[in-house]
Amino acid sequence: MRYVEEFRDPVAAKGVLAAIARVADEIGATRDTPVHIMEICGGHTHAIFRYGLDKLVHDGIEFIHGPGCPVCVLPMSRVDECVELAERPEVIFTTFGDAMRVPGTRKSLLQAKAEGADIRMVYSPLDALELARRNPEREVVFFGLGFETTTPSTALTIQAAARDGIGNFTVFCNHITVPPPIKALLDDPHMKLDGFVGPGHVSMVIGIHPYDFISETYGKPIVVSGFEPLDLLQSVLMVLQQIRDGRAEVENQYARVVPEHGNPVSLAAIADVYEPRPSFEWRGLGEIDASGLRIRDPYKQFDAEEKFGIGYANERKPAPEPEGCACGAVMTGRMKPTQCPQFGRGCTPDMPLGALMVSSEGACAAYWTYGGARHLEPAE
Ligand code: SF4
Repeated sequence: MRYVEEFRDPVAAKGVLAAIARVADEIGATRDTPVHIMEICGGHTHAIFRYGLDKLVHDGIEFIHGPGCPVCVLPMSRVDECVELAERPEVIFTTFGDAMRVPGTRKSLLQAKAEGADIRMVYSPLDALELARRNPEREVVFFGLGFETTTPSTALTIQAAARDGIGNFTVFCNHITVPPPIKALLDDPHMKLDGFVGPGHVSMVIGIHPYDFISETYGKPIVVSGFEPLDLLQSVLMVLQQIRDGRAEVENQYARVVPEHGNPVSLAAIADVYEPRPSFEWRGLGEIDASGLRIRDPYKQFDAEEKFGIGYANERKPAPEPEGCACGAVMTGRMKPTQCPQFGRGCTPDMPLGALMVSSEGACAAYWTYGGARHLEPAE
């Protein structure tokens, strides 16, 4: 296939859907005894709802929406720390746009900006570095947020800042890694997970072998997937075929983009600049060992936590979730967004209570965007 339309071909999709139904019947999947397949990545969640795949697949397949949205898994305490940094008079705080509306305990970055904080949206950490060059009298902080997909660009920017001797640029590092939370979910006795659709963009950087533990230790299949409807349907079929055949392997449906061993240039930049933190707090999952990255000693001058004495460099302030908010349960696949009592009532895209409603990869945003109020069950 060469063109994106070919990955959306309805005739081909019908063929794959029929194959999914056959295998689902063979393994005895029904609406009452479904196969639980977690799509780890929030981009996959949105693609599933955008194309209505949840409705098109066999009744016996239940999609569980995983924690693969970096904005959503960020705990409120980290949003509070962003606001604290942004409100310093000497700071120009730079961020990607999708973090602007995420609620903190007191306010979001958007509200802080409305109140006068110097917060600027950028498209790349290099834009933030350029701002630092042009504003030598100010401190420019970049909000480094994301999984392995975005970590290399922040690492390369820190390397550039070091090379050019830029002294007024730092990164508030919230980069996280995919495998540890998956392990935490698999260790949770309350989770029912039969297989995984693995993240495409993250795997482009790390390759497919960091998921070996899922098949080798936990005996579950995982298929790294692309983002078009036929990619996702084929990946679901591959997961089902593994279950039917009694196999548990790491397979790569997205081989046109994902190299088996990842991207060596990106991996080298990450290894040079970052090291695992002892632990990092995730919304809904709590502290998970070695799940976050921090800046290594040779680059410490670019670490905003060290420079400004906040976050893990200081005593952290706990920030409980707002009352009635079920973000943690949705984030970990225990609850569907529409089962949250706040969905469409206390929490909408205009008045969000949780990050999942405003992030472009959030599960609640996906339900709202592609079904909106139709998902609302009558209030009791
Ligand atoms: S509807 Fe709002 S409060 Fe409920 S889980 Fe989603 S984002 Fe969180």
